[in-house]
Amino acid sequence: MQAVIAGQTVELVQGDITEQEVDAIVNAANSRLAGGGGVDGAIHRRGGPAIMQETARRYPQGCSTGSAVISGAGNLRARYVIHAVGPFWAGGDQGEAEALAGCYRCSLELAVEHGCASVAFPAISTGAYGYPLDAAAEVALATVCEFLERHRRPALVRFVLFGSDAYQAFARALRRRVGEGQAQG
Ligand code: ADP
Repeated sequence: MQAVIAGQTVELVQGDITEQEVDAIVNAANSRLAGGGGVDGAIHRRGGPAIMQETARRYPQGCSTGSAVISGAGNLRARYVIHAVGPFWAGGDQGEAEALAGCYRCSLELAVEHGCASVAFPAISTGAYGYPLDAAAEVALATVCEFLERHRRPALVRFVLFGSDAYQAFARALRRRVGEGQAQG
């Protein structure tokens, strides 16, 4: 499914983020940048040890929740990996939505600063961190669309959803945001 937002493309696909040919892929990292399961494990496995060597050297303090840092992408097809730290879901009244929006915004800022025209995101915080899918999709799409309306870059933001539940949640949120007729495919 695709929609055009302020002249740029927002795309939803079901698949594996490590296979994406885009300028930057976003990792759902933890604040120690220590590696883990889920997307993080997959990215470091496919990308090789160079990615963590670089983050350990450049960001020994880690990365705070709601923020992001950038590194090279090792053996992956992308040029960069952006390590975004989403919030752990603790019921919804602990600033989770603000932190989730913050890590999407910060990732997009880093992508634009580094000249990336295409960026792929996973559904940050919706795995081990337990953020409910529909609520996470709403925040993710609102933040990305507002960024595109304001900055008109990057040209392509792709959400790579692992499994049909995540895809359906993002598809509902995109249709709600742009209207049924504007979401194609
Ligand atoms: P978090 O700790 O932020 O919740 P996870 O990696 O546990 O991060 O999960 C985030 C989302 O990424 C989940 O929806 C999970 O199903 C999905 N996911 C796991 N592996 C991949 C992958 N290879 N590509 C894309 N999405 C993935």
